[in-house]
Amino acid sequence: MKSLITRRKSLLVAASAALALSLSACGGGSTTTPPVASASFEAGTTMQKLNEAQKITIGTKFDQPLFGQKGLDGKPVGFDVEMGKAIAAKLGIPEDKIEWVETVSQNRESFIEQGRVDLVIATYTINDARKEKVAFAGPYYEAGQALLVNKDDNSITKPEDVTGKKVCSVTGSTPAKTIAEKYNAEVVPAATYTACLEPLRNKQVVAVTTDNVILAGYVDKEPDAFKLASDETFTKEPYGIGLKKDDTVFRNWINDQLEEFAKDDTYKKAWEATAGKVIKTVPELPTIDRY
Ligand code: GLU
Repeated sequence: MKSLITRRKSLLVAASAALALSLSACGGGSTTTPPVASASFEAGTTMQKLNEAQKITIGTKFDQPLFGQKGLDGKPVGFDVEMGKAIAAKLGIPEDKIEWVETVSQNRESFIEQGRVDLVIATYTINDARKEKVAFAGPYYEAGQALLVNKDDNSITKPEDVTGKKVCSVTGSTPAKTIAEKYNAEVVPAATYTACLEPLRNKQVVAVTTDNVILAGYVDKEPDAFKLASDETFTKEPYGIGLKKDDTVFRNWINDQLEEFAKDDTYKKAWEATAGKVIKTVPELPTIDRY
């Protein structure tokens, strides 16, 4: 009798594991489990405080396939999420002690400034304007701005083609600013890139603009509806990990971890489990900007 129950139980465990796997696959990739370090840190540092609290709050995107997308099981998956898990593990914090908070493009600086999150890892371009308010570790990836168009539209191949036309992008993002200021497009603002997809499908806008890797995730989901206007990108978007502006010790420590991830294959494995399902070439870790 007992063995029957045990067998049933293990069958159940196997079934729920298979379900978890397929659910996370829906969310845009699989996941890795970085080993949790038995770390100890100098008193007074953010590392020590987080390690002692055994809890970290990380802001990420919840609707961007490949980098940060909340799966049906409620957990976000993607390359940004993997970077967060790997950093938490180095702080001695296991994955189930990470609180994931949705940060959209516009609220990333304020969430860091207000202490609502310890870190933001959310396709977050490092730039001087943002450095006035927050600090960035990294970059850990370099994307570039591109255009998403309807599959049957061959009239747009470069940013100059959207001058004077309606383009959807996200408030508080660098691509919204670039397409308006440099290419004189009429920006139709949205809170998230997902909210731009219906207006594009309905032809209320001629394109959606943001980073190539975000758009590649949407093309992967709906290859019959959308395509990238071109494989070329027209800006550089180095992704950083946002944190409190004055916390240089924490920033330096995160930079050390990123360099470590490139050496010990954590970086490669994180890529292959997530964005690498669609973007096959494993990127090199860019040179860390230790400003
Ligand atoms: N990387 C760009 C930015 O930080 C666009 C992507 C996004 O909005 O998250 O503004």
